[in-house]
Amino acid sequence: MTQFPFSNEALTAHVKWLSLEKFNRAFTHKASFNSRLRTTGGRFFPKDCHLDFNPKMAQLPEFDKIILHELTHYHLYIQKRGYHHQDAEFKQLLKAVGGLRYAPALTRPKWRYVCENCGSIYPRQRKIDPKKYRCGRCHGKLNLNQ
Ligand SMILES: [Zn+2]
Ligand SMILES: [Zn+2]
Repeated sequence: MTQFPFSNEALTAHVKWLSLEKFNRAFTHKASFNSRLRTTGGRFFPKDCHLDFNPKMAQLPEFDKIILHELTHYHLYIQKRGYHHQDAEFKQLLKAVGGLRYAPALTRPKWRYVCENCGSIYPRQRKIDPKKYRCGRCHGKLNLNQ
């Protein structure tokens, strides 16, 4: 059985809160986790206006920004405005609320840091400051390796 980080009810409550906080509009439909989503963070279904989210992304620090992306589709659709990725209204609103344009990669990390002392590799989704972070094994200096 897949262990979701939290229940669909808790997810929906969180989406409702983010919706009010960032869009000043109510989210009145349902959100649920869908483990069949692989590389996408979430999905909006215009047919019944519910949102699906990838449970594997729920632990990522970017998860709220993934929710904001799907809420951007949702609110524009409800208001009969341009809700597709290529629509100017979508791009503007997404930027205004600070949503993610693309879901973070789960399998291919964006950045790789290598310890110059022991060669340990640290895959990271976000850029880190090598002055602040050192190798967990030997405390050596980390270098960006693309
Ligand atoms: Zn989208
Ligand atoms: Zn090291």
